[in-house]
Amino acid sequence: MKTLDQIASELAGYDPQALSADMVNTFLKKLVEPVTELEESGIFDALNRVLAADIISPINVPPHDNSAMDGYAFDGAQLSPDTDLTLQVIGTALAGKAWSGTVQRGECLKIMTGAIMPAGLDTVVPQEFTTLKGDQIVIPAKVLQPGDNRRQLGEDLMQGQPALSKGELLTPAALGLLASLGISTVPVLRRLKVAYFSTGDEILSLGEPPREGAVYDSNRYTVFGMLTRLGCQVIDMGVVRDQPEALEAAFVQAALQADAIITSGGVSVGEADYTKAMMKQLGDVAFWKIAMRPGRPMAVGHIIREKLADSSCAKSVSSTGSDRRGAGNAALFGLPGNPVAVMVTFLAFVRPALMQMMGCTSSVPPLLHAKSTEAIRKKPGRTEYQRGIVSTAPDGTLHVATTGNQGSGVLSSMVRANGLIVLHHGQGNVAVGDEVNVMMFDGAV
Ligand code: AMP
Ligand code: MG
Repeated sequence: MKTLDQIASELAGYDPQALSADMVNTFLKKLVEPVTELEESGIFDALNRVLAADIISPINVPPHDNSAMDGYAFDGAQLSPDTDLTLQVIGTALAGKAWSGTVQRGECLKIMTGAIMPAGLDTVVPQEFTTLKGDQIVIPAKVLQPGDNRRQLGEDLMQGQPALSKGELLTPAALGLLASLGISTVPVLRRLKVAYFSTGDEILSLGEPPREGAVYDSNRYTVFGMLTRLGCQVIDMGVVRDQPEALEAAFVQAALQADAIITSGGVSVGEADYTKAMMKQLGDVAFWKIAMRPGRPMAVGHIIREKLADSSCAKSVSSTGSDRRGAGNAALFGLPGNPVAVMVTFLAFVRPALMQMMGCTSSVPPLLHAKSTEAIRKKPGRTEYQRGIVSTAPDGTLHVATTGNQGSGVLSSMVRANGLIVLHHGQGNVAVGDEVNVMMFDGAV
């Protein structure tokens, strides 16, 4: 594990007081390390988990040539471009049963989708293209090419071919693919454990009566949702009061159980609370000002095991047993307090870093291009993430509008948005019709 100073020395132009969004991601890539412990997972438990080894196809998929349509199978060499073809129907091939027998020139076989193509037959005419006359069919000229509507053995995957790669996130499609290969268990990396808590004396937990100046904790729930969608094992630590003892106990508990800790609140400049002090005391932590909006303050680093050793909290937690395998240091992501800033910094920085920790080989979602339907004011020199609603225009192009008020506390706009408009560091004002980049929420939010 590298120290923050080591990473900083590798990055030309690193300035914790004015970091670009790109620099944040570069820095975090160097900071976090993937988990290494493997587990064997049943296919139903493998959704959203990361594959720990390449999967080589043990069989051909499909296992034989088969029909892609309900129709009639025949030897396509008999087709001619100018004349209709008349064939005698001599039997029926059903899916799941091999048809035994031979089909001669001038003959065909009624065949169902998925049924094995008998030897010598390579073409299927869909039923609706034909006219049936007694036990003969007529295929009009020019509706078909030899080889049409036949699925070939191994056209999805050949035996011995790589089907899935180590580091892939197992999606519903990947589960289906594994099942199509007859595979019911797979080696996966253990789930990443992420502890999270909200800080601030003005933050109310659900169930507490409202009081003047206080707001209900929403960050805990957005973070919970985003972590769960990512497939992490979550450790919910609630709201932690702005007291040194409470914060220390929370950091110690979290670090002894989790691979990563996410906090919200208490990292702004001039913050008069103990969160930053406790992070410094127990960890190797940098306090950044990021050239971005919303967001800006963020703390990153590690809570360091050795620094916990003297803590009385650590002793009591250890004696009750920590379930963290492999002693290590917990990565720390101290997010700002404002609810939208939490979600944006999570999506832009924390999510890719956690995916790297999960062992995923891909972590950066592609940015789409969409035409802005409105003018957007933007100052060069910072990255802005505006909540956007992307839609498909009648001509098929993508359009995007903002949700209006971009206040960093306006969480309702995150609900209405389906993506973030990413206005890059150097970019200036956007005019109506200009193309902008969009990061779609795509199941992440
Ligand atoms: P801070 O970064 O601690 O100064 O917080 C910035 C703003 O976010 C303040 O208005 C806080 O009240 C608000 N805030 C902080 N934490 C939460 C939370 N967990 N849920 C909702 N709002 C919060
Ligand atoms: Mg605060």
